[in-house]
Amino acid sequence: MKNGLLIVVSGPSGAGKGVTCKRLKELAPDIQVSVSCTTRDPRPGEVDGEAYFFLTEEAFNEKIEQDGFLEHAVYLNHQYGTPKDYVLGMLESGRDVLLEIEVQGALMVNAHYPEAILMFVLPPSLEVLEQRLKKRGTETDEQTRKRLEMAKKEIELLKSYDYVIKNDEIDKAARQMLAIIDAERCAVKRNLDLSKRLLQGENIL
Ligand code: 5GP
Repeated sequence: MKNGLLIVVSGPSGAGKGVTCKRLKELAPDIQVSVSCTTRDPRPGEVDGEAYFFLTEEAFNEKIEQDGFLEHAVYLNHQYGTPKDYVLGMLESGRDVLLEIEVQGALMVNAHYPEAILMFVLPPSLEVLEQRLKKRGTETDEQTRKRLEMAKKEIELLKSYDYVIKNDEIDKAARQMLAIIDAERCAVKRNLDLSKRLLQGENIL
């Protein structure tokens, strides 16, 4: 069976990648969204196993030693990582998997899986980004300031990505993501076996 697509979505905190990915999942329920592990504390309303698997530093480090992460990175003093077995298992069973991760992790994934599709979500402006971060109300002023500084550094890494989504409207952004995924599914480089199979008399649909 053909492997599924590995879709990586990054973008600064407040760019709206979380809600956009949620909308994408509604539009394309077959896409599997990987649940990451993190050592940061849950925000109000975040459920363990849904938003993240919330781990202690010890448990996270143990998982690193066991080679349990596809990638992992430190972001503003907390560790984040993508569970390896889940993602590889899904891809091998032909399912498309979406990772919503920051830039260091995305570049690590790309180094190991160059066939991954890398998308970067940008906010309409830095002002909008700041407003969104403040409106969230889940971070202190100092944390918001650090996230903004981090955002500027992340935006400079746009050039390492394959696609950019300018996120002014969630539905439009999610539909653009889906269009990119559909186009990638049709890419000849991912379908090189088709001519042979067709010529052998197979129905390729
Ligand atoms: P937050 O604390 O706002 O949930 O996430 C902070 C940053 O970590 C976001 O950019 C988010 O996409 C990223 N992130 C979430 N899970 C992972 C992961 O498994 N690996 C990496 N490298 N980044 C992650």
